[in-house]
Amino acid sequence: MHDLVIRGGTLVDGTGTPARTGDLAIEAGRIAQAGGRAGAARREIDAEGLLVAPGWVDIHTHYDGQVTWDPYLTPSTWHGVTTVVMGNCGVGFAPALPDRHQWLIGLMEGVEDIPGTALAEGIRWEWESFPEYLDSVERMRRAIDVAAQVPHGAVRAYVMGERGARNEKATPDDVDSMARIVREAIAAGALGFSTSRTLLHRAIDGEPVPGTFAGEEELLGIGRALGARAVFELASDLAPEGAELAWMEKVSTETGCPVTFACLQNDFDPEQWRRLLHGAEQAARRGARVVPQVAGRPTGLLLGLSSTFHPLSDHPTYRNELAPLPLAERVKRMRDPELRRRLLSETPQHLAPIGGYIAQSFHKLFPLGDPPDYEPAPEQSIRARAEREGRAPLEVAYDLLLERDGRELLYFPLLNYAQGDFEPIREMLLHPQAVLGLSDGGAHCGIICDASMPTFLLTHWVRDRSRGARIPVEQAVRLQTGNTATVYGLSDRGTLEPGKKADVNVIDLDALRLHAPEMIFDLPARGRRLVQRVDGYRATVVSGEVTFEDGEATGARPGRLVRGRAQAGGG
Ligand SMILES: [Zn+2]
Repeated sequence: MHDLVIRGGTLVDGTGTPARTGDLAIEAGRIAQAGGRAGAARREIDAEGLLVAPGWVDIHTHYDGQVTWDPYLTPSTWHGVTTVVMGNCGVGFAPALPDRHQWLIGLMEGVEDIPGTALAEGIRWEWESFPEYLDSVERMRRAIDVAAQVPHGAVRAYVMGERGARNEKATPDDVDSMARIVREAIAAGALGFSTSRTLLHRAIDGEPVPGTFAGEEELLGIGRALGARAVFELASDLAPEGAELAWMEKVSTETGCPVTFACLQNDFDPEQWRRLLHGAEQAARRGARVVPQVAGRPTGLLLGLSSTFHPLSDHPTYRNELAPLPLAERVKRMRDPELRRRLLSETPQHLAPIGGYIAQSFHKLFPLGDPPDYEPAPEQSIRARAEREGRAPLEVAYDLLLERDGRELLYFPLLNYAQGDFEPIREMLLHPQAVLGLSDGGAHCGIICDASMPTFLLTHWVRDRSRGARIPVEQAVRLQTGNTATVYGLSDRGTLEPGKKADVNVIDLDALRLHAPEMIFDLPARGRRLVQRVDGYRATVVSGEVTFEDGEATGARPGRLVRGRAQAGGG
C-alpha cells in the first residue's frame, strides 16, 4: 500500500525527457514509482489532464529574515516552490555579533528593500555563529525546505568590525579568519558563500555591501575554504568584465566549485550578456564551472503610490506634503486639479539615480494590467500612449497611478528589456551553461515581486507567449527543478525518479493564472510587501505530504532545513 498516488497525470519529470501519462506513487516521503500504473494507496489525487512535475527549487531568494518567523515563506510557496536557497548576494544575518544586529538589518533593508522595522520586530537573534543560525532555522517546522548560504557582508563585519563594514582592504590575517568562518559554515551545512560586487547594492547608510571591492586574494582565500561541493554566488557590476570572469574561473578551477553570477541584459550595454555567456563557454572548455544565473523575465519594478518610489515620488510637493498621508487621503488630494497642476509642473529632486533614469525612460514604462502583461509591445508604453493622446508622459502616468483607488501598478522592466521583447531572455534561459535564478523571493518588498517567476515560466513561456517562440514544457520544468537542484548539489530532489524526495506539483496548466501583484501590510510591525496570487496549483507536495491544496495551506509542515552534503550524514 502506497502512502500517496497521484493518478493518471501528465508526468514531466524534471530530467527533460518527453512528457508521459502515468501514476506517481509515494512512500515514506520518497518517490516509489514514476509512470505506469501504481497499486492502491492510502490517499489518491486524481491528476487526469493535469501536469505532474517536481516541486520547484528556487536558488535565488532572500528569506533570511522571514525564515525566522514565517513557516510558509509566501509568496514562493503559493507558486509551487518546495525548496528555497537563501543568503544570496552577500547579505544575511549570520554570523552576527550582538552589537551588529541593527547594522545587519540596515544592510538588508538597504540592499534588498525589506522593511527594517519588520526585520527588527520579527527576528529573535538566537545565534551568533553561522552554525547557530542554521540550528535556529532548523527548529521550525515549515511548509517548504530551506537552505542557506553564508554571506560575505556578515562574515566581513564579524571578522573585521568597522574596517570590514567600511570596505577597507582585508589583511592576510583577516582573509584567514574569514576563510575559517566560511569553512565552519560549510561544514555545518551552508550550501555556499555569496558576495556582492555591485554599487547598486548599498546599506541603508549608503555604504556598499562589505566585500564589494574585495581583491583576488580575499576572494580566492575564501573560495579555497569552500571545497568542491559548495557554490560561490555573486551579483557584480561585471566591470571590468574580463577581470571579473577571470577571478571567477580561477576560484572554480582551484576549488572545483561552481561560481554563479547574476547575468542580465542592461540598457547601457545590451550585448554584454552575449559576451558573458561566451565567457562561460570558454571557461567550461578549460574545465571551470562559471555559471551565468539568468532570469525568466525582466527585473520588474512595480511603481505605484504605495511602492518605494514612482514617477512622482521625487517631486517636492509629493515628498513633503503627500507622502506622509494615508493612501486614501493622498488619492483624494491628487485628484484635486490645482494640486495636480502644481505637482506636474515641479522639477523632481531625485535622491537615487534610478528616479532620474525612470523619468527619462517612459518608453519602457507600461501599465501592468490584470492579468499582468510582462512582455508588452512598444506601442503600449506610457510614451507611446502620451504621443497618441497629445499629452505629456508624466500626466499619463499620474492618471494611471490614481486608477483602482491608487492601487494601480506601472511596470518598469529595469533589466532584460533593452530591446522591448524577450528574445534575449529566451536565449539566456536555453543556454547550456546557464542556470535559472534571480526571483529574489522575500526581497525588494516595496518595488519588485518576481517570486512568481516559477509560475511565469509555465504561463508565459510554455503556454501564452505570442511575441516569439515558446519553450517546451519539459525544458521549462527542468530549468527550475533538475537544473537548479544539480548546481546546488541537491541530488536528492529535482526529478520524479524512484528514490528521490517526493516534492511534487500537480498543476492545471490550462487554468494556471497569475493575478496582478498587490501591496499588503502583513510583515511584522505592519511592514509592507508586494505579493502575487495564483490560481491553478491543484496540489503541492513536500516530502510526500500535501502542503497546499487549491491554493490553501493544509497545515502540514514537513519542510526542513537542508544541510549541504559537506556535512557527514547531512541530507
Ligand atoms: Zn539577490
